[in-house]
Amino acid sequence: MSARILDGNAVGRAIREELRAEVAELGARGRVPGLSVVLVGENPASEVYVRMKGKAADELGMRAATIRLPVETAEAELLALLDRLNADAAVHGILVQLPLPKQMKTDTVLRRLRPEKDVDGFHPINVGKLVIGDRTAYRPCTPAGVQELLLRCGIDPRGQHVVIVGRSLIVGRPVANILLQDAPGANATVTVCHTKTQHLARFTRDADILIVAAGRPEVITGDMIRPGGVVVDVGVNRVDDPAAEKGYRLVGDVKFSEAAEVAGAITPVPGGVGPMTIAMLMKNTVQAARQAA
Ligand code: NAP
Repeated sequence: MSARILDGNAVGRAIREELRAEVAELGARGRVPGLSVVLVGENPASEVYVRMKGKAADELGMRAATIRLPVETAEAELLALLDRLNADAAVHGILVQLPLPKQMKTDTVLRRLRPEKDVDGFHPINVGKLVIGDRTAYRPCTPAGVQELLLRCGIDPRGQHVVIVGRSLIVGRPVANILLQDAPGANATVTVCHTKTQHLARFTRDADILIVAAGRPEVITGDMIRPGGVVVDVGVNRVDDPAAEKGYRLVGDVKFSEAAEVAGAITPVPGGVGPMTIAMLMKNTVQAARQAA
């Protein structure tokens, strides 16, 4: 393997250390950042994410609460809970873990959050603010984490051709918007690919920085990567593996063994983008506490 590893665990830890001091300072002024995470149902992956988020907030000295609702909860009941959290001055950030059960409309639920408490950055007001470059917006945690990881590893996207595989509202589009900004740490030339893109490899091979958020295990192979380029693998996929203790293992959207031979730098899965997502959620919650009226 020749690629340098972009270590999200180490960078995420450094960010959380910085935030610990900020949380203490806010606490001393009587404003302990409060984060409420709402989980509906028992999706195993969501359970893991919610646990990790609550643990990270606890460790920073935040006031963290995880509210679990049964899978059959009516949408109206969830909306009523969000209204209560919206009105609670001790709650600065609210996160509704996705996906939601089928009787609920994700759009309706996310729009019910007060934009000032929407630390996931999915409310249309925050999406719009991101697009126009308003820094009071909360940036979606995974895309913001991708940018932060690059910068803290000394990789400046300015003037680089960034190719993104995936155009979801959670990863692909916001990461494109963030890196396209006329702002320090951005100013990239951005190409966004999706399932209707013809000749995908033509674009990926031209990427100075390739960001993959396709949700397809190992869809990007070594021959699709520019020699010496930077590869950020956002994907997290469980694939069956009878030899593994849990019966499965996690792989990214990039075939790591091949990509690491070609790329100049690459994120591992796990331990790349994942820890950055959590760190940025903590950062957004501190921002919410600071900005609270
Ligand atoms: P998603 O909603 O399923 O979107 C996937 C996107 O990739 C879509 O835009 C799709 O195109 C495109 N795509 C799929 N296969 C493709 C292919 N073969 N060629 C080109 N484009 C392709 O997924 P997501 O929510 O963005 O998540 C992406 C991945 O990131 C998943 O593995 C997810 O688990 C992971 N993730 C990780 C974190 C983290 O913290 N590490 C956070 C969020 C998500 P169309 O639009 O044309 O369908």
